[in-house]
Amino acid sequence: MALAEETKRIAAQFDYSDQDVNVGVREFLKQMHEGLERDGTSLSQIPTYVTGVPNGTEKGLYLAVDLGGTNFRVCSIHLNGDTTFNLTYSKVAIPKELMVAKKASDLFSFLAKQIELFLRTHHGAHFDASIRRRQTVSTPEGFRDEHIFRLGFTFSFPVQQFGINKGTLMRWTKGFDIPDAIGKDVCALLQQEIDNLHLPVKVAALVNDTVGTLMARSYTSPGKTSTLVGAIFGTGTNGAYVEKASNIKKPIKGDYDRSTGRMIINTEWGSFDNQLNVLPNTSYDIALDQESVNPGIQIFEKRVSGMFLGEIVRLVIVDMLKNAEISLFRDDHSGQNDWKSTTTIAPESGLFKQWGLDSSLMSVAAADSTPDHSSLRQELEKQLHIYAASLEDARAFKDIAYAVGRRAARLSAVALGAIVLQSGQLQEPGDEPIDIGVDGSLVEHYPFFRDMIYEALAAVEGIGPEGAKRIRIGIAKDGSGVGAALIALVAAGMEKKANVDYLHGVRNGIVHKFTDSARQLTATVG
Ligand code: ADP
Ligand code: MG
Repeated sequence: MALAEETKRIAAQFDYSDQDVNVGVREFLKQMHEGLERDGTSLSQIPTYVTGVPNGTEKGLYLAVDLGGTNFRVCSIHLNGDTTFNLTYSKVAIPKELMVAKKASDLFSFLAKQIELFLRTHHGAHFDASIRRRQTVSTPEGFRDEHIFRLGFTFSFPVQQFGINKGTLMRWTKGFDIPDAIGKDVCALLQQEIDNLHLPVKVAALVNDTVGTLMARSYTSPGKTSTLVGAIFGTGTNGAYVEKASNIKKPIKGDYDRSTGRMIINTEWGSFDNQLNVLPNTSYDIALDQESVNPGIQIFEKRVSGMFLGEIVRLVIVDMLKNAEISLFRDDHSGQNDWKSTTTIAPESGLFKQWGLDSSLMSVAAADSTPDHSSLRQELEKQLHIYAASLEDARAFKDIAYAVGRRAARLSAVALGAIVLQSGQLQEPGDEPIDIGVDGSLVEHYPFFRDMIYEALAAVEGIGPEGAKRIRIGIAKDGSGVGAALIALVAAGMEKKANVDYLHGVRNGIVHKFTDSARQLTATVG
């Protein structure tokens, strides 16, 4: 019985009450406002230069590329204008030597070559035609505006953005190290290499994955409602939302479409409350932070996202193993073990290594409602080399994992609830849903993650059970490709509006292929 009691005591440290949720929401709102006023606050509130969201009627063919940590994806997206799309894509692993290349051009020329290969393979007719056209067109620039593919560039490294397709690399992460690229405009680096290959491609937009998710969800979501938030709950967590331009007090450099009165803000909420004004801070959270590569930052993320939840659970379990008073994964009671064999933890078990317990095991635990927890016990064996765990052991593991997972979902509701309140949408008449697009393995696969978010939202003052019913959280599939395409479309509309003929005005008066879709887009956000 001691194990069950101790489990209960520790699990209670992860309780996050309705009152805590409300205190969290108030602080989140405060830090949102600070971030809108000035730079250098814990919520960065980065203006994205994207000033409208789609409504599903947008049309056209766009390219999108995604440079993540491991792979480079190239895709073309045909937006059908009826909330559906067709997507063709290819994926290639980034060669390790290019991640640490001497010159930025080594990496970016590789990326441009992949784009060329993709165009030749999947858009051969268009590609050949544009080569022919290039040979016949008498301008030095080669291509006519309407024959150019707009490309949305999803770049998952920290950039200082200063235009819809301009942004300088602040630092590399995730094992990349090409000092030559730091401080340079990553869109220009890619465009340079595309031009060297004479490809009919313009890098039209620089995209953060949260903004892509927001755009993709807004395009695909049912009905006319436009989406308010795009959020990622995967390895990390972050969110972007639609803000009124008049609320953004800090200066926004460069050009953007002012006519909509809105701008999508990338909150970078992973670093909400780095100062720990209100966030829970158990001894396990403290240990995780101290042993991380970036102590003191991404404090919210370290309590919410997939990369960290398993590690919190691991730290708790390791602590419990040290406690001589209780018997967890031990053979003291093999007589009581219904599996009738010796409980052992292999020395090479991930339990004894930092990051050794993957959050997906928490999903297995949460999903196992069988009386003998057999699937969890099998998975403990498979993933952690814990052999013949007793039913009591499995129950203890499940309860701890649940407590950590539930706290994460309720913290997620703090961020989402604050943004819903900030938008004022609940005060607007009618019963239009307040739409939130989400992506990432945690929200997609952790059982009842969304239900736990809804439950916490219902406890937020100013939202309540009625308000929570109006909030609709939906998965945005293929967010990065579709979202990047949609932002490229927005960018095409902006070029048109600003009358920026980047091909030096030689083609004034040509009917713009993208005009219709761009106009529809603007109409919905005005
Ligand atoms: P990324 O963030 O790189 O785009 P994902 O959205 O797939 O990738 O998120 C990966 C993270 O999600 C990892 O930290 C992993 O531990 C966690 N994860 C993967 N599968 C599950 C699952 N079934 N339940 C909970 N977490 C999961
Ligand atoms: Mg992702």
